[in-house]
Amino acid sequence: MRQRLDHRIAQSLVIVCGWLAGITWAADLSLDALQLRGDLQQGGMVIGQAPKGAQVRYDGRALTLTESGEFVLGFGRDEPLRQSLQVVLADGSKQTLPFTLKKREYNLQRIEGVPGRTVNPDPEHLQRIRFEAGQVKRARDSDTDLRGFLQTFTWPVRGPITGVYGSQRIYNGEPRRPHFGVDIAAARGTEILAPADGLVTLAHRDMFFSGGTMVIDHGHGISTSYLHMSKLLVAEGEPVKQGQVIGLVGATGRATGPHLCWRLNWYQERLDPQLLVPAGTAQAQ
Ligand SMILES: [Zn+2]
Repeated sequence: MRQRLDHRIAQSLVIVCGWLAGITWAADLSLDALQLRGDLQQGGMVIGQAPKGAQVRYDGRALTLTESGEFVLGFGRDEPLRQSLQVVLADGSKQTLPFTLKKREYNLQRIEGVPGRTVNPDPEHLQRIRFEAGQVKRARDSDTDLRGFLQTFTWPVRGPITGVYGSQRIYNGEPRRPHFGVDIAAARGTEILAPADGLVTLAHRDMFFSGGTMVIDHGHGISTSYLHMSKLLVAEGEPVKQGQVIGLVGATGRATGPHLCWRLNWYQERLDPQLLVPAGTAQAQ
């Protein structure tokens, strides 16, 4: 009898301790527990690690998790600085983890006295422009469980940086769309290498603005775009490996000279690809 009672007490203690441990752990969950790595700044991409069995939400979206709980999210050019992640733990308890983004300063260039017709495209082109924008938007909406986004990204082309993320021209006092890519100058025909594993979700030979255009899906909403290419060497639906040649540099579409405009997206948010690759080394190697 005594032995059975001891056994029951021991069992109860295990249950209570387990429950307490659960409570303590839940209360202790901090942003640190998510092991965020990347840039908590406007334009940044961040990878995290969810506790076992947890769900993570950001900006109203349930993030896709890998089997081991990794997730990714990104912040737009003008993302409000105060943000939070919502975590639903395996036991159903919910936690909100606030964080603050670092504010970016962007290059603004004011240009006065530009004739109107060089600023706005002819109405006859608008239909084509809208159609192509829809094609790119659909490619960026791709939501797969590919894992290329977990790799360390490499530069697709080496060369002088001639344009940076977030910069904006203001023509005749009217702000234009900000520049969302990094422009890398290179000779026409220079090979463009996939910066990470992925799947080609758009390969278009001649878009109105961006000419030869490609979008590669790296999983979980992360994609990269390549503009003004002179040649596309992989087709839509084709998987690519990091370092594989995907096309050649050109000046197709509305480009002033041969360069690669390289972009990074998290779904429809435009991120800064330069934050993913070694700083200032576009010219090296
Ligand atoms: Zn560009």
